[in-house]
Amino acid sequence: MPSPNGVAPLPPVAVADRGAARLAAGHPWVYRSDVLAPPARAGFAPVVDRRGRPLGWAAVHPTSQIAVRWVHAGDAPVDAALLLARLDAALERRAALARDPDAAMDGVTGTRLVHAEADGLPGLVVDRLGPVLVVQSGCAAIEPHLPALVARLVARLAPEGVLGRFDAKARALEGLPTDVAVLHGQVADTVEVHDGLLTWSVDPRAGQKTGAFLDQRLNHRRFASAARTYAGSGFRALDAFAYHGGFGLHLLRAGAATVELVDASAAALAAARTAAARNGLPEPACVRADAFERLRALDRAGARFEAISVDPPALAKRAKDLPRAMAGYKELNLRALRLLAPGGVLGTSSCSAHLQEAEFLNVLADAAADATAQGGRTVHVLGRWGAAPDHPERLGFPESRYLKFVLLRAVD
Ligand code: SAH
Repeated sequence: MPSPNGVAPLPPVAVADRGAARLAAGHPWVYRSDVLAPPARAGFAPVVDRRGRPLGWAAVHPTSQIAVRWVHAGDAPVDAALLLARLDAALERRAALARDPDAAMDGVTGTRLVHAEADGLPGLVVDRLGPVLVVQSGCAAIEPHLPALVARLVARLAPEGVLGRFDAKARALEGLPTDVAVLHGQVADTVEVHDGLLTWSVDPRAGQKTGAFLDQRLNHRRFASAARTYAGSGFRALDAFAYHGGFGLHLLRAGAATVELVDASAAALAAARTAAARNGLPEPACVRADAFERLRALDRAGARFEAISVDPPALAKRAKDLPRAMAGYKELNLRALRLLAPGGVLGTSSCSAHLQEAEFLNVLADAAADATAQGGRTVHVLGRWGAAPDHPERLGFPESRYLKFVLLRAVD
């Protein structure tokens, strides 16, 4: 019998012992190789162990590598009401964050409202970008429920518009079509987003991710504050992989004498220039280039900076990319450390979900050892953080700690 939303429930999906052990350890995914018989189609289904004992309910998929995305350990079917309750809970958590002084949400209009598995809604991302909401989905089982979820978002938050950014390549993994569509109201070509200190113009249709990198919001501030403290007045700054200049513009606000933004995207650099003007900051130098090459060229030219940010896109998109990615992170950080003036600060990021923080720190130590082989330099770790707290991290799910931000200082 079809359920009220017209999506018939699926028969149970059995997982192998290894899959059951992963779920028991708190990881929400079971890979295809650990499912005994794939489901006939995507949807929500009961999950059982190889003896048929019930484990709970999950979003399941017949061909995706991530065959099972956990929802809960009970026996209640996953239906629209359950998903709406999860959405409400995610919004309550954001309301609580707004009262937490450490989250520094005062005046912030760019926030993540739903962070997929970490908020119990597999594959679903919802960002608030000023007056509009942007929705992304990478989970076929959730798709039929999107109209109900969007209606609830509209009822609770009354945005000017809701945009579906259904254009991520990852959608192909679940056989989902790609599209960008207004799901409700009006969505302007550019919207203003306030991060609490600066105002940004964001293109919700074509900007990267949902239009902005909201996860780095607090790291931008931490970096600027460290630069102000340690780099002295009138410092020189370099923001490599700048996008809209999240790090670089906060450095200008903190008193940098010069800032060079490097990015491969002309649109991103144009938005950075607009944001600098909009916030009454000096115009940054914008260099459209491959950042690997730019760092090498600056090093060859003997350039020096008191503050450097290195924030590449995920160099390891898949686990098997890790060795190459680690070589890439080492190269970037080695160059950056060589460019760092004595006493200068390096804010270095990795958003590769497959690279654990401990491994990233090893790569940084390796880069520092090479960079300082002749110079006898001491590098301090001023701090280590993840994404801003509106991007919650789920214990037992290391992929949800995808962003690592390490603040280093070359003491001498
Ligand atoms: N630092 C930014 C986010 C950076 S996202 C912030 O805090 O908001 C990564 C950026 O790297 C994107 O803007 C992308 O256009 C850029 N990029 C990707 N590959 C690049 C390359 N090889 N050289 C320079 N920029 C690159």
